[in-house]
Amino acid sequence: MALRDSFGRVATDLRISLTDRCNLRCTYCMPADGLAWLPGAEMLTDAEVVRLARIAVTRLGVNEIRLTGGEPTVRPGLVDLVAQLAMLRPRVQLSMTTNGTSLARFAAALRVAGLDRVNVSLDTLRADRYLAMTHRDRLADVCAGLAAAATAGLAPVKVNAVLLRDVNDDEAPSLLRWCLERGYALRFIEQMPLDPQHSWDRGVMVTGAEILARLRSEFTVTALPGRGSAPAELFAVDDGPGTVGVIGSVTAPFCAACDRVRLTADGQLRSCLFADTETNLRTPMRAGADDADLAHLWAAAVRGKRAGHGVNGPDFAQPSRPMSAIGG
Ligand code: SAM
Ligand code: SF4
Repeated sequence: MALRDSFGRVATDLRISLTDRCNLRCTYCMPADGLAWLPGAEMLTDAEVVRLARIAVTRLGVNEIRLTGGEPTVRPGLVDLVAQLAMLRPRVQLSMTTNGTSLARFAAALRVAGLDRVNVSLDTLRADRYLAMTHRDRLADVCAGLAAAATAGLAPVKVNAVLLRDVNDDEAPSLLRWCLERGYALRFIEQMPLDPQHSWDRGVMVTGAEILARLRSEFTVTALPGRGSAPAELFAVDDGPGTVGVIGSVTAPFCAACDRVRLTADGQLRSCLFADTETNLRTPMRAGADDADLAHLWAAAVRGKRAGHGVNGPDFAQPSRPMSAIGG
């Protein structure tokens, strides 16, 4: 059974949020004093995560799993959990999105456990700005974490950056130069309306077009063909081999090619970041549902996936769960 929706898209990429908690407080993602965390009893256990992942891989055609959060590295037992997911057959592509603060400690063990690659979020190279943007003084740890990821072979090491107007939007070229020098693949992501403060403002968002214009002040940037279902539009930098990606989630949505489905840390399926409904897998699982029952619930949830996120439509309403509790 494939996870096919009513528009013919097939979900093969499962994003699992391992926690809604985080050790940073990125201003566009979390208030400085944090959020009301999910109660522990509602969080999926490791065994439950592995069981649902096994159902996805063996019954529903999922071939790629990305671990995210919140910050996945704050989940106790992460390395063991990765090892169990890496043992699923057929073997999936296993990656993780992380703020990188703990990678210096974990990268080698995660690689040995079977993690294939990482995406590390880094929005600025200036320590004062990093502190202002995340409320934590951890820039040096992130840089060390990126180096550790590369050394461990978690390749290609990707860097995700969100630009905020008049905060760090002047850093597009310097971030790109820094990443190219180190062999990291940089992708800029347009800020989306997923913050708990509901402070997103379309007029203030730095658009993909603006990001490209800023890059072109220092580089030749040429569009590359063959985006497929990848959210990033890729560009060759100075005729290659270096590249840069721009994820225009708002101004150039890639919903028509979306192949993702999300599982929250408390066991709710979401067919889209912006979905207004969730399918609860945790409760039936804990009530004794068998694998076939859970697979059917899962397939039905994906069948109801909407055509697009609707951010640009007149009726758009921001989902009540913030990004950190959905799994970015
Ligand atoms: N804590 C990990 C991290 O920061 O990489 C994983 C979770 S975080 C929610 C995943 C990604 O979402 C990060 O790259 C972050 O910059 C991005 N993100 C968070 N809020 C966002 C927003 N409102 N719009 C666009 N990207 C956002
Ligand atoms: Fe934490 Fe990631 Fe959100 Fe930053 S973007 S607050 S690192 S979950």
